[in-house]
Amino acid sequence: MHEATIAMAIVDQAAAVAMQHGAARITAIEVELGALKQVVPEALDLAFEACAEGTLAEGAVLSQTVRPAVALCRPCGREFEPDLTALSFACPSCGQADVEIIAGHEIVLKAVECDTPAETPLP
Ligand SMILES: [Zn+2]
Repeated sequence: MHEATIAMAIVDQAAAVAMQHGAARITAIEVELGALKQVVPEALDLAFEACAEGTLAEGAVLSQTVRPAVALCRPCGREFEPDLTALSFACPSCGQADVEIIAGHEIVLKAVECDTPAETPLP
């Protein structure tokens, strides 16, 4: 399951950050998910809960934000947000579909909140 893999990665990374800071427990985690990952938020919540069990992240609140996808048109150099519902990657300027996806696949851990210290923002 797609979401389980993502949840595992989030728990792993957050736990690593928490350990670096000597935290006993993670209270909240903020992630940004590229739109092309097509993550179902409810499914990720459930998977996260399951993965976090027995780790530092157990009981932590996961907040998810979707990052829009960005495509770069090779012929004309325009950057645009592809229409994912229509699965359309045609450039709005020149109409060609020769594009490079430059954002939308990433999973970014934005912040990990621990009980000691209070908050650990990532660079
Ligand atoms: Zn173009």
